[in-house]
Amino acid sequence: MDIDSLTLRAKLKHFFGFDSFKGDQERIIRNLIEGKDTFVLMPTGGGKSLCFQLPALVLPGTAVVISPLIALMKNQVDVIRGFVSEETGIAHFLNSSLGKAQIQEVRGDVLSGVTKLLYVAPESLTKEENVELLREVKVSFYAVDEAHCISEWGHDFRPEYRRIRNIIQEIGRAPIIALTATATPKVQSDIQKNLGILDATVFKSSFNRPNLFYGIRDKVEPEKDMIRYIKQHPGCSGIIYCLSRKKVEEIANLLNINGIKALPYHAGLDAKVRAENQDRFLMEDVDVIVATIAFGMGIDKPDVRFVIHYDIPKSIEGYYQETGRAGRDDKPSDCITYYSYKDIQKLEKFMQGKPVAEQEIGRQLLMETVAYAESNQCRRKLLLNYFGEDYPADNCGACDNCLNPRKTFDGRKEMMLVIRLILSLPEHFKIDHLSHILAGDSNAMIKSYHHDKLPVFGAGRDHTDRFWSAVIHQGLVMHLLEKEIETYGLLYVTEKGKEFYRHPYEIRLVEDRVFQGRGSDDEDDEETAAVGAAMRGGGGGGDAQLLAMLKDLRRDLAHKLGLQPWILFGDPALEDMSILYPVTLEELHGCQGVGEGKAKKFGGPFVDLIRKYVEDNEIERPEDFVVKSAPSKAASKIFIISSVDRRLSLDDIAEARGMEMSELMDEIEAIVSSGTKLDLNYYIRQEVDEDVVDDIFAYFRDEATSDSVEAAIEALGPDYEEMEIRLVRIKFLCEVAS
Ligand code: ADP
Ligand code: ZN
Repeated sequence: MDIDSLTLRAKLKHFFGFDSFKGDQERIIRNLIEGKDTFVLMPTGGGKSLCFQLPALVLPGTAVVISPLIALMKNQVDVIRGFVSEETGIAHFLNSSLGKAQIQEVRGDVLSGVTKLLYVAPESLTKEENVELLREVKVSFYAVDEAHCISEWGHDFRPEYRRIRNIIQEIGRAPIIALTATATPKVQSDIQKNLGILDATVFKSSFNRPNLFYGIRDKVEPEKDMIRYIKQHPGCSGIIYCLSRKKVEEIANLLNINGIKALPYHAGLDAKVRAENQDRFLMEDVDVIVATIAFGMGIDKPDVRFVIHYDIPKSIEGYYQETGRAGRDDKPSDCITYYSYKDIQKLEKFMQGKPVAEQEIGRQLLMETVAYAESNQCRRKLLLNYFGEDYPADNCGACDNCLNPRKTFDGRKEMMLVIRLILSLPEHFKIDHLSHILAGDSNAMIKSYHHDKLPVFGAGRDHTDRFWSAVIHQGLVMHLLEKEIETYGLLYVTEKGKEFYRHPYEIRLVEDRVFQGRGSDDEDDEETAAVGAAMRGGGGGGDAQLLAMLKDLRRDLAHKLGLQPWILFGDPALEDMSILYPVTLEELHGCQGVGEGKAKKFGGPFVDLIRKYVEDNEIERPEDFVVKSAPSKAASKIFIISSVDRRLSLDDIAEARGMEMSELMDEIEAIVSSGTKLDLNYYIRQEVDEDVVDDIFAYFRDEATSDSVEAAIEALGPDYEEMEIRLVRIKFLCEVAS
């Protein structure tokens, strides 16, 4: 079919209301209309759908669109029906979600030739009755959307995609257009081979997203870091990706506790709740959605200002897809990933249950992610290189490594050594293997090839294998080295590399960044723990002068109120104040053992004193505000609090939670000491003699020097049971001390 540019534009305007084509759209559409197989590599948001929708409307017959996502299908059909308003029968979908009557309607429209676009899931396409149906109609062309699903090297492999070619043969060949937003050379080659479209015209758009900033952060206190970041960007929409549902729930909860409106989204939630949470995010009812990767496919919120990966993604493609959901409106947006090598080890462990071949693929994809994260090179360059694209500039100006460039060195000698090694081996090997040889680290594989006997074995042993793998990665980006596509990951030296080897010239290389938790993790843990303890004021980490002033104030105030000093604030609370310098009641609430009630009741003079002290001494308060943590075992606590409100007996509560009575008391004490008041009088009245209550209460009010239970037991003697003491102590803390 021949169609001129003007007519095509008119159709675009008529059906979709757009004035001009985006990017390669017109050339792609023209190619397909001319009956040629077409392969489209275009990043998400580039406008792929139109590349098959418009030809479908223009060409005689029905276009069969194969797409893996049932939910998206309905959405796409709705969208196209919205555009092409005059005919609702023009687009249909066939998948397992349809009832019998609906299927009949679709078949009717297809057979009568009304349907121009028929979306099918690959499972439905392979069904005999659907094959029969399609054999009876004229298929204008086949569109294979999300075509990377064909390759096990893509991030979303679907085995049923492998059967598409055979089914197309059965129904009858027509031009094929394959579309994907994944463009690694390996995936591209798999798609073309599998669909039998090696001769297809390939249209590849740039995958560069200039408005996205890419950064990798060390995963140390990521929660705190995230909360700080989000608070610095008030009113901005963002997505946080975590790998586990549990983490999703935890972080959504933590954000809310810290005053950030967030909702969870993962496959474990009821479909209705999921849809609701997604809607509330789209409607900007909440700012942040915390999600597993299940979120975001096909959602088209243009103003997502940040995408945070709390956990490292399993592949670079996954990373690219997920970060790609930021900044669809082309405004500057941030992509931040928290990285720790421990997470990688965890992911490797998860893989162990899988079939060996799949494990091997998974491990390699993961290692690419590690190399990306640890690299000191421009992230944009690395990402684009991964998709077989060159980024010309030296400094992209919008990634952490370009904004904070590291020192470089002339890596000519090092690169020569790498090339010499590769050229000296008759077979090709992967990065890991080569870098271990150079560093002189033997392992089973190296021994089995006798590579520990090579003259270059250990020739670079003054550096680690990580150093060598960084050199190799940079050789790839410079195209001195290349990966074989077929075998994925085996390295060879390019012509350019051989030329460099013959006539070496200066090349600037950088070493990789060193992250926490690489190598000696245990030490790191101890260190962090020690810092944490100091921060909590475990003995004078704070401002000693201020602490002394706070203690004086506490004593004077207690005196005035006729209360024991510790009843106002315990020592840990004062120590926290001397570290954190809270100057508002809200901030005071962040100190240990200071509930809201207590902050209001006694806090005023303390924050006044601290404010004055901070001003007088020109103290820079820690920028870090205190991140409130989710109460541990929150559900259990909420259950206890509401049960006490309903005046249930403590024995029943303990039984309902499967706890010992003493455990329940521990929980109750924890609840009370964090500032929540519990009224246990209904239970105490029934369980403890009135005189006993009075005696114990008086002890805490008049004699005690701390709220210690042990001290009370000792002072009160054997006439009083521990349980009685603990109960009355709680009563005292709730009625007097908070
Ligand atoms: P992809 O499938 O590549 O992620 P879509 O097909 O969903 O991209 O298109 C992305 C957005 O671009 C959609 O909102 C679509 O309506 C819009 N779009 C597509 N083509 C054009 C065009 N020629 N002019 C203006 N907007 C377009
Ligand atoms: Zn950069």
